[in-house]
Amino acid sequence: MSAGASLVEAPARPLRTFALTVAAVRQLTPHFRRITFTGGDLALFGTGAGGETLDLRIKVLIPPPGRGLPELHAVRGSLQDGWYPAWLAVDEAVRGVMRTYTVRALRPAVPASPDFPGAPAELDIDFVLHPGASGPAALWAAGAQPGDPLLVIGPCARWGRCLGIEFAPGGAGRVLLVGDETAVPAIAAILESLPPHIIGHAVLEVPTAADFLDIHSAARVEVRWHARNGAAHGTLLDAAVRNVIVPAAKRQGDEPEEVDVDSAVLWETPECRPGHGLYAWIAGEAAAIRGLRRYLVRDVGMDRNSVAFMGYWRMGQALAA
Ligand SMILES: Cc1cc2nc3c(=O)[nH]c(=O)nc-3n(C[C@H](O)[C@H](O)[C@H](O)COP(=O)(O)OP(=O)(O)OC[C@H]3O[C@@H](n4cnc5c(N)ncnc54)[C@H](O)[C@@H]3O)c2cc1C
Repeated sequence: MSAGASLVEAPARPLRTFALTVAAVRQLTPHFRRITFTGGDLALFGTGAGGETLDLRIKVLIPPPGRGLPELHAVRGSLQDGWYPAWLAVDEAVRGVMRTYTVRALRPAVPASPDFPGAPAELDIDFVLHPGASGPAALWAAGAQPGDPLLVIGPCARWGRCLGIEFAPGGAGRVLLVGDETAVPAIAAILESLPPHIIGHAVLEVPTAADFLDIHSAARVEVRWHARNGAAHGTLLDAAVRNVIVPAAKRQGDEPEEVDVDSAVLWETPECRPGHGLYAWIAGEAAAIRGLRRYLVRDVGMDRNSVAFMGYWRMGQALAA
């Protein structure tokens, strides 16, 4: 069946599976490995209203060693109610491992013309190869070769709202984007999409200076890279944010509710659209993000409807999907 035909026939559900194949692997820096995927299903991949992906999160399903991709409760790729508990109920040795990643870029297919052979739709994911990478996703990325299959779960283009995008600055004219290496793909995609009138700062912490990347943006957002060079995770981000956002003398907020990042996911995103001031988007290692949350909410008194705090991973813990 062609992608065009399945676009018409597939039942509309929020999420669907994408059976993809590795088309290219590029080691961008010592710790960033860009993997480009192709697959006819990509014609059905959902995006924001203008085709943007911003911080769009997806799930990748790593097959167990020596086995094929697991089956999911789906009809022609569209995930049905109860698909997740059904997957969890399958024996761990068979179901594979699910992890969360960001769409770094999505390029639509370019049809062939008399002068051009055409190009398939492509999706890029930037995988962090963290030092001593022991997790199944980082290990898979480290060994990936063109031709390898991967099952991705992402938004369906036919569903009204694209699930998985959190970046929502509303009318804000100033942004603060903060993240460690796992949030760099999202921050880079966000920066690329911002219009010229937006000002602000992006504060990024990565393992080494060799991991600094070129990011193009029309916005007037100053990008500040920080090389960890073995320092404790998140300490440079903390210092850098305190440097950029200084508390006003009399403006203080309440102590935010405690979140035990070892037993719960730190994920706090605004419930309504922010106004015109500053909008902050902050993601990375959960304990580091919790510290920044305390600083911005309690010491700076930031309006919680203007800031998204997201624990992307937890030091020392395998991430349950
Ligand atoms: C919304 C969202 C978007 C994300 N986008 C991306 C992305 O685009 N690219 C990306 O690389 N990651 C991204 N992540 C983070 C990624 O999901 C985690 O790093 C995940 O733990 C990797 O899975 P794994 O199987 O390699 O390791 P796991 O099995 O989960 O963990 C194994 C061990 O590795 C440690 N570990 C995991 N990640 C890191 C790290 N970065 N540095 C040091 N130690 C680590 C864990 O603490 C654990 O001890 C995202 C997470 C979320 C929630």
